[in-house]
Amino acid sequence: MTETLDPDDWGAFARAAHAALDRAITETASLRARPVWRPMPDGVRAALRQPLPQQPQALDTVLDEAWQTILSYPMGNTHPRFWMWYMGASSLTGALADFLAAFDGSNLGGGNHAAAETERQVIDWLKEIAGFPSGASGTLTSGGSAANLIALTVARNEAAEIDLRAEGLAALPRPLRFYASDQVHGCHQKAVELLGLGNRALRRIPTDAACRMDIAALAEAIAEDRRAGWQPACVIATAGTVNTGAIDPLPAIADLCRGEGLWLHVDGCIGALARLSADHRHLLDGMERADSLALDPHKSLHVPFEAGCVLIRDPQAHLRGFALHSEYLDPSARGIAAASWLLDLGLQTSRGFRALKIWMMLKEQGVDRFGRIIGRNIDQAHLLAARINGEPRLELLAPVTLDIVCFRYNPGGLDAEALETLNTEIMMRLQEAGTVAFSDTTVHGVHGLRAAICNHRTTDEDLDIAVSSLLATGDALVSGGLTAQDTIFQ
Ligand SMILES: *Cc1c(COP(=O)(O)O)cnc(C)c1O
Repeated sequence: MTETLDPDDWGAFARAAHAALDRAITETASLRARPVWRPMPDGVRAALRQPLPQQPQALDTVLDEAWQTILSYPMGNTHPRFWMWYMGASSLTGALADFLAAFDGSNLGGGNHAAAETERQVIDWLKEIAGFPSGASGTLTSGGSAANLIALTVARNEAAEIDLRAEGLAALPRPLRFYASDQVHGCHQKAVELLGLGNRALRRIPTDAACRMDIAALAEAIAEDRRAGWQPACVIATAGTVNTGAIDPLPAIADLCRGEGLWLHVDGCIGALARLSADHRHLLDGMERADSLALDPHKSLHVPFEAGCVLIRDPQAHLRGFALHSEYLDPSARGIAAASWLLDLGLQTSRGFRALKIWMMLKEQGVDRFGRIIGRNIDQAHLLAARINGEPRLELLAPVTLDIVCFRYNPGGLDAEALETLNTEIMMRLQEAGTVAFSDTTVHGVHGLRAAICNHRTTDEDLDIAVSSLLATGDALVSGGLTAQDTIFQ
């Protein structure tokens, strides 16, 4: 018999696969009863430092090992009380779709097949959600970072007064300048660095007390740069900053970009999908005027990683940025190559079938339910902020706009350094206890903790558990009730 990668015994494969699926379902159903996170024992770490496997093993054996080691120590973001950074909580339907996408096996570089059509369908749906015209272009990406990079590439090329793809940056008559608020996500710095413009080309504009871009400072910066010989190219507005969830003044920025002839890119990785919430949609007014938009289905849609999306209003500009003519990829009149290539819309040639999980989840849940859940998370952030405002030992550090709350435990009488040490310790203890996962950040120079409630499993009771364990841990640390803590104020 010819050796292949298929099972020798299909029946045994089916039993192992069904058991794995059953276990994933059981564990997801009982997620709430487990700690948010637990540290990996040394044995598990050691189990992941083994030599290259030379000989085959039964799938059962491999699965057993995966469950005991890898799958028992996840990051924790599927748990209802994981609120670090800004992540999705995943979904079993999405996981099933990822399996089926791998089973289908199609390469989404393009071609004449249903998987490629599914991506086109999903892009059309995402355009509708974002308020973009049906004629706009778009592509699914690994995430928001790749989506923003693609958009900034198109913005750079369109702004250049030369054929940048042919001539390169050295031929630019004037250096290009991009603008974003001082709250901009780090992926934009990586993008301008990768685009050869350098971090200097990304001018950070100060923000107001609510962490929104100061529009007068933006106008002034553009005028100053023009006088100094820069070529202003693009404003990156953020709809939902990663620090506090602030939304830049989108209509005013859109007006300014139109007046100045600048490309408007909106980083909507956190906020764009809040357009699905009838109660909060108005917060995103003006976003639909962007030339390009990045959004992130693996955040508020809880699609398993990875799934991001970039939309570009002018489809020709998108193609001018990435399309190539390769003779080995000439479309044919009929057959498998009788289609435009999706690889002409981004960096990758081979591409995974990310569209299926978005397609299946939107079909199964419907957008209204996603809107209600996104709206509930925002309401929960306001609720948490109200609880914080009502507790003398807790302090809110930034206004709440979307589903992010920045705060700190502040018993009074401690300086900034001691407060930072104390809050960091509280954060780590709550993680180690598996109670609640907060992250930390610094807002306009003040360090604090942060809850990003982008989680379809979070209930209002989870907020109560979080506040009471936060207070109990802080109180115990301050009163010296926790011995290992004696070190923190020395
Ligand atoms: C998450 C995020 C990104 C990066 O997206 P990834 O999906 O993590 O690559 C960019 N911008 C903002 C505002 C984000 O919140």
